[in-house]
Amino acid sequence: MYVVGVTGGIGSGKTTVTNLFQTYGIDVVDADVIARGLFQLGSDALQQVHERFGDQALLGTGELNRAWLRARVFEHPEDKVWLNQLTHPLIREQILAALKQAQSPYVILSAPLLVENKLTELCDRVLVVDISEALQVERTLQRDSVSAQQVAAIMQAQASRAERLQAADDVIDNSGTQDALVEPVARLHRFYLQQLEQ
Ligand code: ADP
Repeated sequence: MYVVGVTGGIGSGKTTVTNLFQTYGIDVVDADVIARGLFQLGSDALQQVHERFGDQALLGTGELNRAWLRARVFEHPEDKVWLNQLTHPLIREQILAALKQAQSPYVILSAPLLVENKLTELCDRVLVVDISEALQVERTLQRDSVSAQQVAAIMQAQASRAERLQAADDVIDNSGTQDALVEPVARLHRFYLQQLEQ
C-alpha cells in the first residue's frame, strides 16, 4: 500500500486539498476523525480515562468531557504523558487498519500532527500544505468560532512551518485561491500514480 501523508498546520488547507484528491477517487484516512472516535461510549479508552480520573472526566450522558480532559492535561503534564501513551498506540493501530482497507491505487493519510507524532513512519511520501502563519490565523478565525489567542496556542503546540517543511517530499503552496490548488493537486496525483509503476 502506497501511503501519501498530507499535513499542514491548523487552517493551512489540508481538508481542502484532500477533498480534491478524493475527486480522483483517492481514499483519505483522517487521523483526527480516528482520534475523536477513540472515546466512544463503551470504548476501552473511555473506560481507562474513567478509571483514572473518576466521574469528573465524564458528562452526564457518560460521554467523555473533552473540555475537562483538555484542561486537565494542560495543567498536569504527567497526565498528558499518560493520555498520549494510552491513545497513540490505539490511534496508530486504527490508522493502519483503515489504510489496509483502502481500495484506491494509493491512499492519503491526513494528519495535522503527522510530523509531531512520527506518523511519517507510515508514509511513503509526505505532502505539506504550506501557508504563512498570518494566513493560518486569518483562515482559522474565519472558519472556527475561536479567539486569536486560542489559534495562537494551538499553533504553538504544533510543529513550526520550518519543521514541517523539512519533513516534506512535496509542498503545495496554498497562499493563492482555492482554484489555484486544482492544478498542483492534478500534477501530484499523476506523479503518485507514476511512482506506483516503479
Ligand atoms: P485544515 O484542514 O488544514 O485545518 P481547511 O482545508 O479546513 O484547513 O481550510 C481552512 C479554512 O480556509 C476553510 O474554511 C477553507 O474553506 C479555507 N480555505 C482553504 N484554502 C483556501 C484558499 N486558498 N483561499 C481561501 N480560503 C481557503
